Amino acid sequence: MPVDPTDIATCLDDDTPPDTGGSAPMAAPIVQTSLFAFPDVQSLIDGLGAEHETHVYSRGRNPTVEVLERKLARLERGEVCTCFASGMAAVSAVMLGLLRAGDHILFVNHTYGPTLQLARHLRRFGIEHDLLLDVDPDRVRAALRSNTRLLWLESPGTMLCRTLDVGAIAGIAREHGAISCIDNSWATPLFQKPIPLGVDLVVHSASKYIGGHSDVIAGAVIGSAELMLEIFQRAFMLNGGILAPFDAWLLLRGLRTLPARMRQHHEDGLRVASFLRAHDSVRRVFHPAFPVAQPDHPSSLTGFAGLFSFELNTADLDNVRRVIDSLRRFRIGVSWGGVESLVITPNRGTNAADLDAQRIPHGLIRISVGLEGADVLIDDLDTALRTL
Ligand SMILES: *Cc1c(COP(=O)(O)O)cnc(C)c1O
Repeated sequence: MPVDPTDIATCLDDDTPPDTGGSAPMAAPIVQTSLFAFPDVQSLIDGLGAEHETHVYSRGRNPTVEVLERKLARLERGEVCTCFASGMAAVSAVMLGLLRAGDHILFVNHTYGPTLQLARHLRRFGIEHDLLLDVDPDRVRAALRSNTRLLWLESPGTMLCRTLDVGAIAGIAREHGAISCIDNSWATPLFQKPIPLGVDLVVHSASKYIGGHSDVIAGAVIGSAELMLEIFQRAFMLNGGILAPFDAWLLLRGLRTLPARMRQHHEDGLRVASFLRAHDSVRRVFHPAFPVAQPDHPSSLTGFAGLFSFELNTADLDNVRRVIDSLRRFRIGVSWGGVESLVITPNRGTNAADLDAQRIPHGLIRISVGLEGADVLIDDLDTALRTL
């Protein structure tokens, strides 16, 4: 699982101009300002006419955030990146910036819950959607409607880790004249590059691996200058969900260790997944390396993150709870992608119909493998599984 050396260089690059003395800061300056003053009225008028490329007001462009945006655009091989206050702000901006009443969104694969909730809310504004769990490209083609304007992909999904034939589905979107957008939070730009595969837009929850330390909420969208200008003008500037300069600085720090962290998540995740796969109390492991989660198509992943799930041999919530509550090294909590290992179950005891509709097993446990070391985590899981 080699990480592209140019990506490592991008992540590590300080990307700051030398100051007058010829030396340069190792870390980007935090430009904590709400506005930028102009030398004369005409410069201000010009700036207001092109806020997507001028420093006017920090609800638009900000130099610290731009350092991060340039790096993320380079990592994804996209033209332009815009950062947001959260992953959901990024998701909302794509939908609100590009869709209008009468449009239809096709969600392909298991989709992040709040993203679907947003789509349900958009029905009020005349935007319809369907969720397609059958991810075969022929089924995708058959599910398109004449008014399908956006295909929303997640690959791998973040509950059952099922992957898509990303290039094939991007091609179907293009033939249909629709925009394709993928949530690439799981793979990070290091392990999957959707834009060279033909996907129009990439969305990230940077709160996960990119931040990497469970201390910042952020999002990003990357795509062509043309689509990004629409999103900037119709959604980013108007929704106001901007990334604060300090939060951008935290993400720049996170990026510096992203290649090293992802290599470790890849290795330790695979070791923990292999241990679970061989365990008598485990029915299935949903990890993109294994056939259960990997349909028959070319993989666009060049590495594996540390987030995956497994199904116990029992569907009983008391058993699921006992195993999770017995874990000592995994913290119980939502989210993922930080240095600490986390565990959660989608089974709340009251949502059986929901789980069944999404074909999620009731005995499912999702773990985010952190950086504690695979041996320690395997021991912990072994002890917890013995309580069954
Ligand atoms: C967390 C998450 C989001 C939303 O990101 P926030 O930063 O929490 O708003 C979107 N997509 C996926 C797959 C996520 O896991």
